[in-house]
Amino acid sequence: MKEFLKDKIFQIISDCADRQGKECYVIGGYVRDIFLQRPSKDIDVVTVGSGIELAQEVAKVLGKHTHLSVFKNFGTAQVKSGNIEVEFVGARKESYRADSRNPIVEDGTLEDDQNRRDFTVNALAICLNKDRFGELVDPFNGQFDMENKILRTPLNPDVTFSDDPLRMMRGIRFATQLGFYLEENTFNAIAKNRERIKIISQERIVDEVNKILLSAKPSRGFVLLDKSGLLELIFPELAALKGIETKEGRGHKDNFEHTITVLDRLSEKSDNLWLRWAALLHDIGKARTKRYDSKLGWTFYNHNVVGERMVQKLFVRMKMPQNEKMKFVQKMVSLHMRPIVLSEEEVTDSAVRRLLFDAGDDIDDLMTLCEADITSKNKEKEKRFLANFQLVREKLKIIEEKDRIRNFQPPIDGQEIMATFNLSPCNLVGELKMAIKDAILDGVIPNEHEAAHQFMMQKAKEMGIVS
Ligand code: ATP
Repeated sequence: MKEFLKDKIFQIISDCADRQGKECYVIGGYVRDIFLQRPSKDIDVVTVGSGIELAQEVAKVLGKHTHLSVFKNFGTAQVKSGNIEVEFVGARKESYRADSRNPIVEDGTLEDDQNRRDFTVNALAICLNKDRFGELVDPFNGQFDMENKILRTPLNPDVTFSDDPLRMMRGIRFATQLGFYLEENTFNAIAKNRERIKIISQERIVDEVNKILLSAKPSRGFVLLDKSGLLELIFPELAALKGIETKEGRGHKDNFEHTITVLDRLSEKSDNLWLRWAALLHDIGKARTKRYDSKLGWTFYNHNVVGERMVQKLFVRMKMPQNEKMKFVQKMVSLHMRPIVLSEEEVTDSAVRRLLFDAGDDIDDLMTLCEADITSKNKEKEKRFLANFQLVREKLKIIEEKDRIRNFQPPIDGQEIMATFNLSPCNLVGELKMAIKDAILDGVIPNEHEAAHQFMMQKAKEMGIVS
């Protein structure tokens, strides 16, 4: 272990702890990540006694350019020096009440502190005191679990999860992020205690969902959420996509399976969290719009429009940001079929211009999402679609270079229309504006003021606005 503790910060902490006569350990995620060879900058140090006193001394020794923050209420302190962050806390014992994940805390031993940790692999401690420097303290055989990629709670999992149900989400997140397996009793206890998730705030749940989404293969997390029964509780809209219905011998795809496949495929191409959210939600409107028709088979008419509306409701409920990030996800959900539809038909200039106009600067993200969405059991069909899709990409490039439509603003705005015809704001203004925009996008007139003006006068005559 010693070779992992070469950084001089560990020597300094060691000296300070010895001077104060305190037992002191580096613990938790930092130790886990040593085993996983995932370098981490956040160091958690636990000491038997006051963590704050130890932090104060360490900060003093580090001297200039060191920042110390003390959180008296929590009994913790943080020392920042360069790009290293060390969190100090006194070893503690916890007891829980039924209605809160915040425990009653009292001073404890290292053993008490390890008992309150969520998983054996997160409970490993390495001693920093000089006479035991580098000694691994591993009462729950976390090292074995690490080697075998197992997530197991140190104590009875029922108690661990019921005490703090956020640990259920953390478990599924670690399984996804690290490619670990939830040990059987641990997993069963998540399923059993799933209703306890109701005492966890939306913000914390979303935090974990975001980490799942940002993993290399996020589908793993959603499958585990589903199998444990948590999905239905935290994400009923997504759970509603599950299953295949059959009528007159015709079935449709399982939209949950499809969604997480798309999410994985997109994640191979993009690390953008919000684009990954868009992949997760792209078909969210399908459960509500599903119909069966003897002639047409299964349809999900307008599911993109319904989905766009659902995104806002979902963001509000999950206390996610209702800002341009949400608008971006809505836009992706609303437009996600457009490039595909294009690739199914003959690709006309006008359709490509419209797509560029509606997607604006988000066109590349939309194309990435849409390409990930091309999944079919029929590999021939998938190949044909992907080839056509390539054609749409090429056409987009040519038209973008030729017409620069991406951030196009029609040359005549509503103000000018109102002033020309002495109109107050009304539907007619909108209709005229739309007609001008359509004429430009369809290539009927060039994107110039004079041509647009003439077209507007002509149109106004036809609409009876002027004689
Ligand atoms: P990450 O940084 O990826 O979130 P981490 O394990 O370092 O992973 P932290 O939230 O920084 O996560 O927690 C540090 C350590 O504190 C964990 O390794 C674990 O031992 C303990 N811990 C954190 N949250 C909990 C919890 N809800 N229940 C029990 N122990 C926890």
